[in-house]
Amino acid sequence: MNKRIFLSSLLLVGLLGCNDSSLSPDVAAQAGDKAFDYLVELSDGSVGIGARATGTEGETRAAQWIQDQLTGWGYSPEVQAFTYTRRGSQMSSQNVVVTLPGQSEQVIVLGAHYDSTGVSVGSEGATDNGAGVSTLLALAEALAGQSLPYRVRLVFFGAEEVGKQGSNAYVAALSSEQLGQILAMVNLDTPVGGDILYVHSAHSDESEYGCDDASRYSFDPKVRDRLIGLSQQGDMTPFVLHPSFPGYPEGETGSWSDHAAFACQGIPVAYLEATNFDINGADGYDGYSQTTNAALWDCYDADSKSACDRESETQWGKIWHTQYDRLDRMAELFPGRIESQIADTTRLMLRFVQDPGL
Ligand SMILES: [Zn+2]
Repeated sequence: MNKRIFLSSLLLVGLLGCNDSSLSPDVAAQAGDKAFDYLVELSDGSVGIGARATGTEGETRAAQWIQDQLTGWGYSPEVQAFTYTRRGSQMSSQNVVVTLPGQSEQVIVLGAHYDSTGVSVGSEGATDNGAGVSTLLALAEALAGQSLPYRVRLVFFGAEEVGKQGSNAYVAALSSEQLGQILAMVNLDTPVGGDILYVHSAHSDESEYGCDDASRYSFDPKVRDRLIGLSQQGDMTPFVLHPSFPGYPEGETGSWSDHAAFACQGIPVAYLEATNFDINGADGYDGYSQTTNAALWDCYDADSKSACDRESETQWGKIWHTQYDRLDRMAELFPGRIESQIADTTRLMLRFVQDPGL
């Protein structure tokens, strides 16, 4: 074999390797471990960035760190700067956007906000939403050089905690042609931490979302249902639909996170959230109480799945926006939970982008 043919053969083997559309189980497991490593770097202030309160230097540092990670894997992330008004002041933030190539021009958007809140009480935004960001980063790393059926756009939103500013700015800047290319949007906001892993769709009642143009709104649950189905294929704890409760049919959620702007533009959305809708919380079965772990209640009554005394309870089993939303506290309270939940979330999203069923 002359040298030229030999090199061509190597190139061919390389190309064939790139066309293998499914990742090995080892790669998926490794991506889950990496997602946890990135969560440590992003949210643990003793070794990494820590709290990223909206409008602070921490938020800006996080945006830069996300770009640096992506650039290190050979991507060319774009930064979309935007401004918004808060309490009479002009504020600025940015979304970080990267698109993974696909065989079709059509796009699947996966989004996660990187700002955090609850800093004054000690939150480092580990579950809300360092975990969503870290999952998407591990995905980007695992999928570098892979062939995907559709383009996958990862959008890291700024300023979610002060009125979903990043996702609103992102969607507002899309042309109708760009909007038309988006097949689905999956929002990862607090995908770990709570007792049970859920996937939601948008709400069947548009008035819950208050879209500018109600006629465009979509609550098509097909993305949610695909994710639930993929999670039932083994190697992970299956994700579930939340039971119905007043105002919210089974598996349907409100407009309080970054999926809402996409649903208002007619894009089928899904929302991954870890909480516990079986608890009778401060306002009923609304998913705001995330855990039955008695350490997060003044007094938890396991029989009624509620406070021993509803009049005097002050804690209600909440993790997000509290002193418990940091990796050191989560490790004490729930040994191994975050590692295993983020691995499941990463595995599920890898399955989805390789076989979205759309
Ligand atoms: Zn959040």
